[in-house]
Amino acid sequence: MAQVTCSFCGRNKKDVDLMVSGISAHICNYCIEQAFQILGEEDKTKKQSKKPKFKLKKPKELTAYLGEYVIGQQEAKKVLTVAVYNHYKRLGQKEEKEDDVKIEKSNIIMVGDTGTGKTYLAKTLAKTLEVPFCIADATVLTEAGYVGEDVESILTRLLQAADYNVEAAERGIVYIDELDKIARKSDNPSITRDVSGEGVQQAMLKLLEGTVVNVPPQGGRKHPDQKMISVNTENILFICGGAFDGIGRHIAGRLNTQPMGFSKKSTGTEVIDRTNLLQYVTAQDLKAYGLIPELIGRLPVITHLDPLDKATLKRILTEPKNALTKQYVKLLAMENVTLTFEESGIDFIVEKAVEFNLGARGLRSICEAIITDAMYELPSEEGEQTLVIDLEYASSQFEKSKFKKLQVA
Ligand code: ADP
Repeated sequence: MAQVTCSFCGRNKKDVDLMVSGISAHICNYCIEQAFQILGEEDKTKKQSKKPKFKLKKPKELTAYLGEYVIGQQEAKKVLTVAVYNHYKRLGQKEEKEDDVKIEKSNIIMVGDTGTGKTYLAKTLAKTLEVPFCIADATVLTEAGYVGEDVESILTRLLQAADYNVEAAERGIVYIDELDKIARKSDNPSITRDVSGEGVQQAMLKLLEGTVVNVPPQGGRKHPDQKMISVNTENILFICGGAFDGIGRHIAGRLNTQPMGFSKKSTGTEVIDRTNLLQYVTAQDLKAYGLIPELIGRLPVITHLDPLDKATLKRILTEPKNALTKQYVKLLAMENVTLTFEESGIDFIVEKAVEFNLGARGLRSICEAIITDAMYELPSEEGEQTLVIDLEYASSQFEKSKFKKLQVA
């Protein structure tokens, strides 16, 4: 009988683990594996070369989506969704002819107290985006040559988010958190070099304005013999956020000296809402705070987040799709425990978050302080259980917690 050999590599049947026979040819397991790999590679390059298709979500659609998770902050939602929508439209614009109007990008600054939802907004937005998105932190950045990260490392993250597909990354969106931390440290730059403040701002200019930047693929410090990836930042949308602690002083100062105030149409009297000064924030205030004018110029859209009052905190605790109370109910349901939050219990949690000045971030720690005992005990109990978080239960648990100790100290 004729010897069976692989029609591709010529290996003998006895030298391979498996030989698949066709009508007039055979293929061995090694060649099958190799062919499979080639298919995979082909598939990958096809996917990469295909221009991503953009499904244009209208600003209102985007806002409605954000609203399922983020409570309030209408102004910031409006500004963000319009920016993202326009970003998509820019990406879709045809190669411009000479006299064509070219839509330019509008990078954004969000100013809002810590814990009011800046990062959360950005993260929630990211989930619905069809372009690569990354969050970077300005606090770790320093001027090139100093301990810390180069600004280019921001783009490393974007490249990672885009699976190192440069073309996709060049259409991405970057959220830079804690922009206020790179504000100029003093009014007199000559005393010492401000390597983590003004130095970083200077370095960021070239990222924001749209040039080709050499990015270290693994991030961190650049070093001479590292292979760099060139990324054009022209079409990358930058959204920056920061608490800008104390900027209220600059805003108030400006409003006080401003000859023209904010007037209520009906009465004609000037009304400034002093409980929420951030809503009046302008480029001038950011400059007074320590951002250099060139940087502000490249972040032309300024928006603010409102402080969270009791009513908003209460909504945050109960309303969003993944509201904390819903999470605890689900968690305990897995243990056959029916958990209910009474209005009085919820009010107590909100009161404490306000009292300790913890904002939305504090809601979770307070809930944990109240529910941990139950989450420890109940899984060991037999049968179905119920747990009601009312004022009495919440306050007695809270008394035992570390928060109480904090209060005494
Ligand atoms: P920051 O403004 O400091 O970036 P975050 O976005 O990190 O604050 O907010 C902290 C947490 O508080 C979020 O993870 C989210 O759970 C909650 N949170 C804050 N603001 C809101 C909001 N407006 N709606 C819903 N949850 C919020």
